[in-house]
Amino acid sequence: MERLIAASNNKNKLKEFDAILGSRFQIVSMREAGIDEEIEETGVTFEQNALIKARFVMERTGCAAIADDSGLEVDALGGAPGVYSARYCGRHGDDEANNDLLLKNLEGVSAPRTARYVAAITLVRPGREDIVRRGTCDGEILLKRRGTGGFGYDPLFLCETGETFAEVSMETKNAISHRRRGIEAVLAALGEEEKA
Ligand code: IMP
Repeated sequence: MERLIAASNNKNKLKEFDAILGSRFQIVSMREAGIDEEIEETGVTFEQNALIKARFVMERTGCAAIADDSGLEVDALGGAPGVYSARYCGRHGDDEANNDLLLKNLEGVSAPRTARYVAAITLVRPGREDIVRRGTCDGEILLKRRGTGGFGYDPLFLCETGETFAEVSMETKNAISHRRRGIEAVLAALGEEEKA
């Protein structure tokens, strides 16, 4: 089976890649592929960042690689926090502070505060055309956190079930998430390629 190196060591992401692509690729983490470096995300779009990560891994290993880059876009904020979602408050990965700042910046904005999670998924392969696809998941930003699950902006993100992403089960989130939809789109593109 062809090896596909995921430009991530995040167990949840690796599981999602494996669940959807595992029947045709052997999914390998970056660490398992011997890469321990942090990849600098210098792009200004989700797609650019996902390509930076996937190409970095392909250049180091010579193998096919898959990467994602994701974030939250809020319409009333002109698409912010966008690619800066993880470091919106100025520090990387401080979910509490990121959510506090989001609420502060949305003060006075009336409902529905429409938003979407976005995930760009890129598959790069030596000597073959890159596949770049985007998955989205629409929702609204609440005035107060609800729920204890998930991560990032999930307690404020009301999804199509009427619950926040911090209230739904992992199965529900994984079935409708932006990442799921992006990975499915990559799989569909592979199917199209085979038919051509
Ligand atoms: P990354 O693509 O894993 O680097 O995620 C970027 C940032 O976007 C995360 O740190 C979160 O702030 C936000 N984000 C992306 N996907 C999700 C999600 O499914 N739930 C909550 N926050 C997310």
